[in-house]
Amino acid sequence: MSQLRFNVVEAASKKQAVEVPSPNERPADYFGENVFNRSKMFKYLSEKAYERITDCIDNGTPLDRETADAVAEGMKKWAIERGATHYTHWFHPLTEGTAEKHDAFVEHDGKGGMVEEFSGKLLIQQEPDASSFPNGGIRNTFEARGYSAWDPSSPAFIVGDTLCIPTIFIAYTGESLDYKAPLLKALEAVNKAAVDVCHYFNPDVKKVYAYLGWEQEYFLVDEGLYAARPDLLLTGRTLMGHESSKNQQLEDHYFGAIPTRVLAFMKELEIEALKLGIPLKTRHNEVAPNQFELAPIFEECNLANDHNLLVMALMRKISRKHGFRVLLHEKPFKGINGSGKHNNWSLGTNTGILLMAPGKTPEENLRFITFIVNVLMAVYRHNGLLKASISSATNAHRLGANEAPPAIISSFLGTQLSNVLEHLEKSEPEDLALSGKQGMKLGIPRIPELLIDNTDRNRTSPFAFTGNRFEFRAVGSEANCASAMLALNAAVAEQLKIFKAEVDAKIAEGKETFAAILEVLRKDIKTCKPIHFDGNGYSEEWKAEAARRGLDCETSVPLIFDNYLKESSIRMFESTGVMNRKELEARNEVKWETYTKKIQIEARVLGDLAMNHIIPTATKYQTSLIDNVYKMKDLFPADKAATLSSRNLEIIEDIANRTNFIKEKVDAMVEARKVANKIENEREKAIAYHDTIVPMLEAIRYHIDKLELVVDDQIWTLPKYRELLFIR
Ligand code: ADP
Ligand code: MG
Repeated sequence: MSQLRFNVVEAASKKQAVEVPSPNERPADYFGENVFNRSKMFKYLSEKAYERITDCIDNGTPLDRETADAVAEGMKKWAIERGATHYTHWFHPLTEGTAEKHDAFVEHDGKGGMVEEFSGKLLIQQEPDASSFPNGGIRNTFEARGYSAWDPSSPAFIVGDTLCIPTIFIAYTGESLDYKAPLLKALEAVNKAAVDVCHYFNPDVKKVYAYLGWEQEYFLVDEGLYAARPDLLLTGRTLMGHESSKNQQLEDHYFGAIPTRVLAFMKELEIEALKLGIPLKTRHNEVAPNQFELAPIFEECNLANDHNLLVMALMRKISRKHGFRVLLHEKPFKGINGSGKHNNWSLGTNTGILLMAPGKTPEENLRFITFIVNVLMAVYRHNGLLKASISSATNAHRLGANEAPPAIISSFLGTQLSNVLEHLEKSEPEDLALSGKQGMKLGIPRIPELLIDNTDRNRTSPFAFTGNRFEFRAVGSEANCASAMLALNAAVAEQLKIFKAEVDAKIAEGKETFAAILEVLRKDIKTCKPIHFDGNGYSEEWKAEAARRGLDCETSVPLIFDNYLKESSIRMFESTGVMNRKELEARNEVKWETYTKKIQIEARVLGDLAMNHIIPTATKYQTSLIDNVYKMKDLFPADKAATLSSRNLEIIEDIANRTNFIKEKVDAMVEARKVANKIENEREKAIAYHDTIVPMLEAIRYHIDKLELVVDDQIWTLPKYRELLFIR
């Protein structure tokens, strides 16, 4: 092993767990201590201000200036008592991650001194000088600026010395420049549409919430080894590296004991997350070596999403304290599992009913089936769009690989639910007719109340029904969940509206309500059949079958993004008030541009590493072999020397061939980039990067990985997979 590599690997193995002082308090004592939640509001606000702000949060009542000032004052008092000196509007621009610009509370007092100030005006709206956030041309730098506006439905919190205020980020002309604004609109749309449908069953329902329970997968690598891999450092994934002889074959990592150093990291992460009111519950090893998962208890979607973004930021920060770097990239290592973020999603009413859970009475079960079928219809109509909502340059490495959801959206229902739907579809309408008032005869087979522990869980399905919710498993580990959640909730909102219109039309014709519902459901069950697939999503047969069914099977990410601009998508987003055509067009520009940039950076990094590390190292080794061959000639008669050197001669030739190939491909890649960079249209440019550059990256890597196997380990400069993947 090279001295350099030896030193970093040694240092990594000597790292000790950082002791986390176990707090004497119980989680219940510090849960939410860094959050300006209702109990803090109650304490720090006047009764009137408290009532107004909770009314605004619960019912969307507009906030007056006086209340905003009172809330700002209370928030400031609480924050300063907790040691905060600064505040920031915290928002989610169209990059993955969050943005913040900190301002101190201080203001001149007019008498040469300073006072700590924070007004309702500053709480409600800010103008971050944010012209360099991606905006897809909506906002020219010289034109209208964007501003951030307070989202009172997600509570303010303190990180370090800063009070963070969750905000949306929009252009002066009103278009959203972030993920939160359209997410909030989609949640409002699905609330309205679902409440209307709930009224067929229960007129008391006032509000429907969308819930999100995310499961976050991630890798940890030692910080020293990470620093010695420029590809990890600059792109978040290894662009080269031969498989370790042992990786996940033995499946000995999954649910195994968590290494002490990792446990110390998890412990501290949990404490900090709980203080921020994030209800973390589950932690375990994942399938791949060094891969782990954490999950909270599910929450209202907007809050859950803010919490996910916060957790990712916490993970980045806390991992460094423990000598680790967290990898949130979807596929940091070739040949072993990638990381996703399962989005468990459901709808529930203010009366405490989960709409995707079966009930006890036939009526409750009809409601259950109504919501299930409407979700399936929405996913069927917009399967391509939903795929676009989870697609990115990085997630592309994971989807369609043999351990991750396929790049085709379908839904797993399990035998019980499949049987119910089949029964409804196949029965004669008379059998399903409702008789009399007392005994409603729906002819629906009894649905077990608890489907939750569905034994026939299918891990290969990208959108699986899991008892009382759907699990959208194709979301990428570093993605902002809002992208998927706003598309899903908006699509379901549109579908529920269509459903209601159809049912109402039948009722207007004189049909009884439940009979009308059943009739529409039976039609929809037939229509959305192609989206239902309980088989093996990894199989080749499924790809062919899905294409026959007319599902979106596109695998090129730039082309998948076209789904956002299909007329059916634009109609859906516009009719639900979530986004308009102009916003969708602008956001796609950002998506294509980001795609191009990511591949461009990877191509540059790989080119540099190939020329500066790989070829020089391989050539050095080759030279030592050539030297050996010459010396053999001095020692032995020509014939014998040739025989004895045959292996070395082979390697010399092999290295020459591979290094020549690498050099040629790197040059060709530079040329191909020059050509692609001249393309002005962002979509076309992204397509060029996808079609020409990505295959070159793969071809170059192939030969580098082969060289890693033959070149002397002593002189190989980059830490290898076997070193990166096993934490000691
Ligand atoms: P899995 O078996 O899929 O790994 P986990 O227990 O790790 O399950 O995670 C399941 C996630 O789903 C948790 O975040 C949990 O809170 C969430 N969840 C459970 N029920 C619902 C629901 N009705 N709606 C949304 N999320 C839910
Ligand atoms: Mg899961």
